Amino acid sequence: MTAHEMIVQEVQDITPHLRRVVFGGAGTAGYLAHPPCVPNIKLYFPRPGQDLDHPGVDERGRWAFSGDQRSRVRTYTVRWMDAAAGQLAVDFVRHGDEGLASAWVQRTAPGAVLGALGGGGRVLKPGGYALMFGDETALPAISDMLEQMPADQHGQVFIEVHDQAEIHQLAKPEGVQVHWLPRAGAPAGSTRLLIEAMEQVALPEGTGFAGVHLWVSAESEVVRFARKWAAAAGVQRANQLIIGYWHRQLDEVAYAKESDHDRVKGEMDYERPGHEHDAQHKHEHEHSHEH
Ligand SMILES: Cc1cc2nc3c(=O)[nH]c(=O)nc-3n(C[C@H](O)[C@H](O)[C@H](O)COP(=O)(O)OP(=O)(O)OC[C@H]3O[C@@H](n4cnc5c(N)ncnc54)[C@H](O)[C@@H]3O)c2cc1C
Repeated sequence: MTAHEMIVQEVQDITPHLRRVVFGGAGTAGYLAHPPCVPNIKLYFPRPGQDLDHPGVDERGRWAFSGDQRSRVRTYTVRWMDAAAGQLAVDFVRHGDEGLASAWVQRTAPGAVLGALGGGGRVLKPGGYALMFGDETALPAISDMLEQMPADQHGQVFIEVHDQAEIHQLAKPEGVQVHWLPRAGAPAGSTRLLIEAMEQVALPEGTGFAGVHLWVSAESEVVRFARKWAAAAGVQRANQLIIGYWHRQLDEVAYAKESDHDRVKGEMDYERPGHEHDAQHKHEHEHSHEH
């Protein structure tokens, strides 16, 4: 067994800092036929300038990394998938050359190859009053969830982005308001825009925090604040999902090791219908980068 080899078919700039890569080929179709493959995907990158070197597999069927291989796995969101066409798209934030994934996406072109090692994860539970807070790394997940919401969903979404040029149209139910929070070019992870948005959020009359379905994904400090804020506001733990998508001092592998992306147990027990899987298998996909 090898990683599902996904071939870059198209590269499109959605905004100056958000680049969409459409993957296809037999490996992409194989990945999509292997649930759980959404909403998140573990991408495996080659060493810069080299061909993809596949990790091995141990006797229990789990990925067996050698050398620096484990350090080349990153978590992304499947922005859209088309199982019939054997394609999926990932929207990458371009945050410079210091990150393996970000540097790869700056240079990628049709024909480039990445590995897909596994997927899984949770989405916002339908119903309730939806409150979502995220930065640009969470924008692909938020965009996808907005598109999948029932037409009568109500709520508010707060999205921090690099600057005004990142603001773009999102498909969403009429009753969900989107608030863009451009940080005027300040470094990512350096502002309090999302924290202040939480502190100041106003719910419609007759809606209490006990009826809120909450989603927060952003830099570690924001999500650590969010968990305390949500508890004080009275959001029910089973109705919230708060996950750090990145840490401003750590690469992803170190952040996962340090605090498992600031995850805690017992939050938002809801998976996208049709993509449920047994808990043990899912845990392996999500946390251990195993197959
Ligand atoms: C479930 C989940 C889904 C995610 N989905 C997406 C997605 O769809 N699109 C997406 O772009 N990201 C997404 N992320 C975030 C992404 O995994 C991280 O940003 C990751 O660190 C990027 O890897 P890298 O190799 O570019 O940087 P790394 O090698 O991991 O980090 C190198 C340096 O870059 C810094 N860094 C990392 N990310 C950023 C950033 N966004 N801005 C500024 N500095 C940064 C780190 O602090 C570190 O100093 C997701 C994360 C999770 C957990």
